[in-house]
Amino acid sequence: MAFLLRCLKGRPEMKNIRDLSLEELEEELVALGEKKYRAKQVYAWLFKGVNSFDEMTDLSKELIQKLKDHFIIECLFLDSFQQSKDGTIKYLFRLLDGHKIESVLMKYKFGYSACISNQIGCKMGCNFCASAGIGFVRSLTAGEIVSQILKIQECSGEKISNVVFMGIGEPFDNYDNVMKAIRFINDPKGLNIGARHISVSTCGLIDGIEKFSNENIQCNLCISLHSSKDDVRSSMMPINKKYAIDEVIGACKKYIEKTNRRVTFEYALVDGVNDSREDALHLVKLLHGMLCHVNLIPVNKIKNGKYEKSSVEKMMAFRDLLNEKGIVATIRRELGSDIAAACGQLVMDNQGEKKKD
Ligand code: SF4
Repeated sequence: MAFLLRCLKGRPEMKNIRDLSLEELEEELVALGEKKYRAKQVYAWLFKGVNSFDEMTDLSKELIQKLKDHFIIECLFLDSFQQSKDGTIKYLFRLLDGHKIESVLMKYKFGYSACISNQIGCKMGCNFCASAGIGFVRSLTAGEIVSQILKIQECSGEKISNVVFMGIGEPFDNYDNVMKAIRFINDPKGLNIGARHISVSTCGLIDGIEKFSNENIQCNLCISLHSSKDDVRSSMMPINKKYAIDEVIGACKKYIEKTNRRVTFEYALVDGVNDSREDALHLVKLLHGMLCHVNLIPVNKIKNGKYEKSSVEKMMAFRDLLNEKGIVATIRRELGSDIAAACGQLVMDNQGEKKKD
């Protein structure tokens, strides 16, 4: 990789081929004097997970050389990984500019799910989230986002069937790149993962929710809610001072009206902060009549974090009360918390990791 970085410093014009849509790739190859249909061949190879142009065995030597002269193909490198007792694997990937991101592989009954990052750091500052503590560096490109899935497949040997944008970063703060990556993931000629198996989680950026409503794609929208009261939510999530709960709920109602799709509200239960019977009843009132599901998550411990998770009894009582009042609620199974791979625990570097062999 050091060699590749040195080469790139001397060749700033090199584009990451994984950032290009099929149409963009067609334009690039035609400009290089190639027939348009060659782009389809190259595009298909990219999603087979190849790491070099030489692996594209049905291309001519001349075309492979042109590709090498104008594009980079590998933009993400495995730095280290950690495996949880429950089988969850957290990967630390290094990008071409030397920054690092984390991605997680989780095993469920239905198959393998990848939790991926979309930014290096995050601007949103949610105080239960380790990603907030690392500050913001930059947004990832579409190619860097989708490469996490390809690398996880390569490293684990498992086929990913579900993707969640719940890693580092706020997806709607990197809207265009995230949407482009979603198209790559969903494209039958790309990763071919059904839209219903792709979930995007936002802290509640209203303009992003509105744009997402008009995308005409059946992905799942998840909202990090965590409280139905503005004062409590603002104390956990600074974004609530900009977009208050009523505005977020209003945008979600419009989304449901437009798409007829259910919204998932994520609610991290924090002992003594948002987990009382009164909190549950307040939430019921807020979500009354909405096509939604509440995903209750025990808040996870982070370095210097001030929150403690609610007891199992309190979580079950909260869930049961919501269900009793007609709001569908479940408690999310905790995966990877022993290796800091669970919700809110991802950062840009990991401790006690296994180095790549
Ligand atoms: S919870 Fe999401 S939006 Fe909030 S700081 Fe963490 S990564 Fe950013």
